[in-house]
Amino acid sequence: MRCIVLASGSSGNSIYLEAGHEAVLIDAGLSGKEILRRISLAGADPHLLKAIFLTHEHGDHITGAAPIARRLGIPIFGTEGTLKDIPEGKGKRQVDKRKITVYTQIIQNELKITPFKISHDAREPCGFCIEGNEGTVTICTDTGIVTERTFSYLKKSDLLLLESNYCPEMLKKNPYYPEHLKRRIRSEHGHLSNDDAARVLQSLSCDISAVILSHRSKDNNTPDKAMKSAQNALMLQKDEIRILLARRKEETDSDFVRYDF
Ligand SMILES: [Zn+2]
Ligand SMILES: [Zn+2]
Repeated sequence: MRCIVLASGSSGNSIYLEAGHEAVLIDAGLSGKEILRRISLAGADPHLLKAIFLTHEHGDHITGAAPIARRLGIPIFGTEGTLKDIPEGKGKRQVDKRKITVYTQIIQNELKITPFKISHDAREPCGFCIEGNEGTVTICTDTGIVTERTFSYLKKSDLLLLESNYCPEMLKKNPYYPEHLKRRIRSEHGHLSNDDAARVLQSLSCDISAVILSHRSKDNNTPDKAMKSAQNALMLQKDEIRILLARRKEETDSDFVRYDF
């Protein structure tokens, strides 16, 4: 099983997950062309893609979904609320949209994929817990809070992609962000801060092998702050947990953050 983060953050999100000679995309928030280019650059094969799963309808998660689905003839899975924003298309350009429901597992080749509810200002957003033969990957970004139920999925992971969006101090001092936007980011329907992520990491058991800090803000965070906060949180863990930083779209053109099981 291999997981490659093609991009993460408000300028685009997409994760390539390969298992048993098939692959799925979680979110497709760059242009279709750019996503396919990045998959090839990462040494993977875009033709292994068999499905696209979407977390929610914001542009940084869906931009390339319909173009890729049409080009490769693969379905897009999402909650009813999320799929509303994906164009139907007609005739040859028709997109195969498949509705999913939170907490109902979908089997995709050897992957068991369970969508779970997250708290974000979108219609019906979800995270994904993905079990494969070699391990479990959980994707939890774009959420203002982590509930007990969400936490139960995070705990099961070998690899966790956890949001570490903003440094509270930087957000507070940012003169370019209006108050209402700051409130939105901090709210229960916004994003997880470095401190929130640290609290989550502190409560996780040491069964987890690696964390990829994700959906980092360009304006209200730095790679160093996100990393230090997570490192401090995991300092007292008995077993070593690898901490990786997902890169933003503009931060990389190759050499993507990846994890192989
Ligand atoms: Zn987002
Ligand atoms: Zn969003």
